[in-house]
Amino acid sequence: MSTELHQMGVAELAAALAAGRVSSVEATQALLQRVRAHEGLGAFLAVDEAASLTQARAADERRARGEHNPLLGVPIAHKDVFVTRDFPTTAGSRMLAGYRSPFDATVVARLGGGADGHPGAGAVTLGKLNCDEFAMGSGNDNSAFGPARNPWDPARVPGGSSGGSAAAVAARLVPGATGTDTGGSIRQPAAFCGVTGIKPTYGRCSRYGMVAYASSLDQAGPIARSALDCALLLSAMAGPDPDRDSTSLDRPAEDYTRGLDEPLPGASAGRPLQGLRIGLPTEFFGAGCSADVQAAVRAALAEFERLGATLVDVSLPRTELAIPAYYIIAPAEASSNLGRYDGVRYGHRAAEYTDLLDMYRRSRSEGFGAEVQRRILIGTYVLSHGYYDAYYLKAQQIRRLIAEDFLRAFEQCDLIAGPVAPTVAWAIGDKADDPLSAYLADIYTLPASLAGLPGMSVPAGFGAGGLPVGLQLIGPHLAEPRLLHAAHQFQRVTDWHTRAPASVTLSRQA
Ligand code: GLN
Repeated sequence: MSTELHQMGVAELAAALAAGRVSSVEATQALLQRVRAHEGLGAFLAVDEAASLTQARAADERRARGEHNPLLGVPIAHKDVFVTRDFPTTAGSRMLAGYRSPFDATVVARLGGGADGHPGAGAVTLGKLNCDEFAMGSGNDNSAFGPARNPWDPARVPGGSSGGSAAAVAARLVPGATGTDTGGSIRQPAAFCGVTGIKPTYGRCSRYGMVAYASSLDQAGPIARSALDCALLLSAMAGPDPDRDSTSLDRPAEDYTRGLDEPLPGASAGRPLQGLRIGLPTEFFGAGCSADVQAAVRAALAEFERLGATLVDVSLPRTELAIPAYYIIAPAEASSNLGRYDGVRYGHRAAEYTDLLDMYRRSRSEGFGAEVQRRILIGTYVLSHGYYDAYYLKAQQIRRLIAEDFLRAFEQCDLIAGPVAPTVAWAIGDKADDPLSAYLADIYTLPASLAGLPGMSVPAGFGAGGLPVGLQLIGPHLAEPRLLHAAHQFQRVTDWHTRAPASVTLSRQA
């Protein structure tokens, strides 16, 4: 049995556990062994076999007592920006090396062992996943602990900032993982690694215990192989958390798997998406998008048409402005959020210093990597007196206009579709000396982030070099069920999401 365990997605593993064909301890052991054999991918930053097995035993005991939450005993892993009691948390930064939180993030607790009267779904944490430092990046090459690699081609980036999450799922080290998306960090790595990811509506999942990057944009979500698996994970992750995150939405937790198999109301089984209008923003299909990505996305859209959906042209005229607006707002918020790492309360403190100011300066210079320092500088600049109106306020006004573009577009359609990123995954190091070129590659994910809208990445074939391409679906606020339904119906008739990279057999790299 243990040889095939890694082939199972979340739903399959859940069914095997429920039927008693495998125990959580067995599944956890098998996957941990696989994680060890694939250390060269750089997907994990921390594993602790004893801690995972303790959680697995607890899950098996809960099941023996008659509980049957679908995720009970399913091994998953968390992006290293979620704080965890049983594992260290670094956010990919030297600043937090060795840090251990006294509590679990709300999302971790809800998926796992619970907290404060919430029982927790009982999933087991296999470890913590690599990411760009403080979630700033698009290639996982800004991690202080080395890059994560793309299992489809280890010389390529897995995307970022949740690169470890996408790589681990694609390499079949774990059936599902958490990620966070501030400007694309769930959708883009999912696309680059050929797996499925959903960034929920801003506020759907609590941010409590997520190491903050840009608080008005940060949102947690799952990365897994399929829309069904994402729905299972999201059902446990989402829900209000009013005492701990005032921006968490006052919407009850729900079962996102409900109705996924049904045709839309009034549609037939053969054309289950009949009546669904999918808007294609002209700005997403221009010259900026490479031909291989366009071809895969167009072919996926043709499949949606066969499923009964109608394609309509829409416009998001301020798309281009999303890049300057985001790269002012996100650093501004980051400069404020990262002020807490001052070497005093927690985090890295320089070993030698002359006085207090020197201690701050040295601790922060040693603890933060180049990209984080760059963003703190930009953020501090755009918030400073005299520049605030010219940059930060202007960016906020553009953000509003971008949100209005979507509102107008959604008068003509139910979902918006396009590419996730302009190209397939690039080579590690390719954009290292040119941060701007990485920022520009965020063009298709930033608009939904600025508008707080839910967005998905769905495997849609392969492009240059045999590398995966993702189709992006964007919905109106709270339209996660509609997104997951459309993606699931697409996945019933396609098999892109079931393809595994050949390199999954690849072990430690030189
Ligand atoms: N690439 C974007 C950035 O660097 C998005 C990162 C994210 O979503 N966390 O900010």
